[in-house]
Amino acid sequence: MKIREQTEKIEEATLHPRACLSSQSRGRQRKEREEQIRTCFQRDRDRIIHSKSFRRLKHKTQVFLAPRGDHYRTRLTHTLEVSQIARTIARALRLNEDLTEAIALGHDLGHTPFGHAGEDILREIYPGGFNHFNQSLRVVETLERNGRGLNLTVEVRDGIVKHSKGKGRIFSQNRKGETLEGQIVRVSDIIAYVNHDLDDAIRAGVLKRSIIPRELLVIGDTPSRRIDAMVKDLIYRTLDSELEEIRMSEEITNITYALRDFLYENVYESDRSKKEFKKARKILFDLYNYYMEHTEEIFKEFPKEMVKDKERMVCDFIAGMTDRFAIMLYEQNFMPQPWVVF
Ligand code: MG
Repeated sequence: MKIREQTEKIEEATLHPRACLSSQSRGRQRKEREEQIRTCFQRDRDRIIHSKSFRRLKHKTQVFLAPRGDHYRTRLTHTLEVSQIARTIARALRLNEDLTEAIALGHDLGHTPFGHAGEDILREIYPGGFNHFNQSLRVVETLERNGRGLNLTVEVRDGIVKHSKGKGRIFSQNRKGETLEGQIVRVSDIIAYVNHDLDDAIRAGVLKRSIIPRELLVIGDTPSRRIDAMVKDLIYRTLDSELEEIRMSEEITNITYALRDFLYENVYESDRSKKEFKKARKILFDLYNYYMEHTEEIFKEFPKEMVKDKERMVCDFIAGMTDRFAIMLYEQNFMPQPWVVF
């Protein structure tokens, strides 16, 4: 028996009946032979890690635009924190840890440069509309590997496209067809960001610890204590439901919402952030218009069949940029360049 088949048997024997088994996957975009060693979800995880979009996450904004300080989170470290939280939960609930990890590592691949400022401006100027979760799906289905995509399983793609909640509810109302592993990533994303963004905002001097309302810190005054309380609550409440769905107690859910609201008001939509957002918007707006006029400069980045839709191509090009790449192209195209020939 192949090692992969043994692993599939171990999953069948040890995982919860509600877990998503790799042997029962609904398959890939294009049929492929199974591999000797790894299950389909392990392969998906590895494909994401080896993708170019994954490497670019290291220079994409989480909250603070192109931060110079080494200790601020980026999209990459955010993604790793989400993955770690989600895996802990999946393993405790005897759900599929490999599937959970693959979804978590892929969930933010479609984020633009400059975080939500970038997403907003593309939504406004690209006629087809834009949001990062559909773009994440587009990255793995189409843009990676020169137009071929990563050919991931249905379960991983579904988890990626449904992870986002913006200012909406942590748990979607209608969860029909959602895997529990996907639901875990959705909640792990918010557990990670409300805690690390608060930590980074204090580090940046945007927030003073003393203005954080006491009731937000009753479950812990450090990120690690709060994450611990949220994760444990989620695990035990979900076990109470016999894994009918992923859930948290009302108390912890409300604290999580309150932390998010507090961050929106005092960090994400604060006057200081808005000022920076304006600059980021200008950069991307100008670059979008520039490349609409000079599509020949980016043709080589795209396969032939994609260059027919000019707007889509420019939107994909902008969305894929890191913060520093966008700044570099802006300088190159809009600032006088120092004359280097003596
Ligand atoms: Mg995220």
